[in-house]
Amino acid sequence: MSFELPKLPYAMNALEPHISSKTLEFHYGKHHQAYVNNLNNLVIGTKFENSSLETIVLEADGAIFNNGAQIWNHTFYFSSFMPNGGREPKGVLAEAINKSFGSFADFKDKFSKASITLFGSGWAWLVKKPDGALDIVQESNAGNPLRKSLTPILTCDVWEHAYYLDYQNRRPDYIESFWKIIDWNIVGKRY
Ligand code: MN
Repeated sequence: MSFELPKLPYAMNALEPHISSKTLEFHYGKHHQAYVNNLNNLVIGTKFENSSLETIVLEADGAIFNNGAQIWNHTFYFSSFMPNGGREPKGVLAEAINKSFGSFADFKDKFSKASITLFGSGWAWLVKKPDGALDIVQESNAGNPLRKSLTPILTCDVWEHAYYLDYQNRRPDYIESFWKIIDWNIVGKRY
């Protein structure tokens, strides 16, 4: 079985001015694609040759994990956005956010802080715990909360390649824009 780069659910310029088509050309077209190409080469002749991506995220180590998890993480990240997104979650996710963080504003503040303070490359995640409560976790490099039996709901990629072309070193400005493109309908269905 060979892994493929999933299609983006919007045009390359659809997230402008928050994320430019130039960023997507590199972040999706080059980085995401490279993880796919790398994984297809790495699994040849290993026990993961015919595995699903989820199995690789859960069970692999080293380069196979790094590339497999980066494919999963980027697909999840890119599928959380829409043009003219933002606003606020509704329904059960909104209720769970209020219950776990007090309010949407408090959640947003805590998630933004987790994204801004993550040292180096990695991902900030909103996750559902087995008891249904929500939490925010930071993962370095390709880290994925599925490994800790947590259900990913939302993620922010804070690798510099996610924002450097548009925001250079200003990670907080990228995080502020991140909130304006979220498709809460899709994110809400993950809860
Ligand atoms: Mn990335």
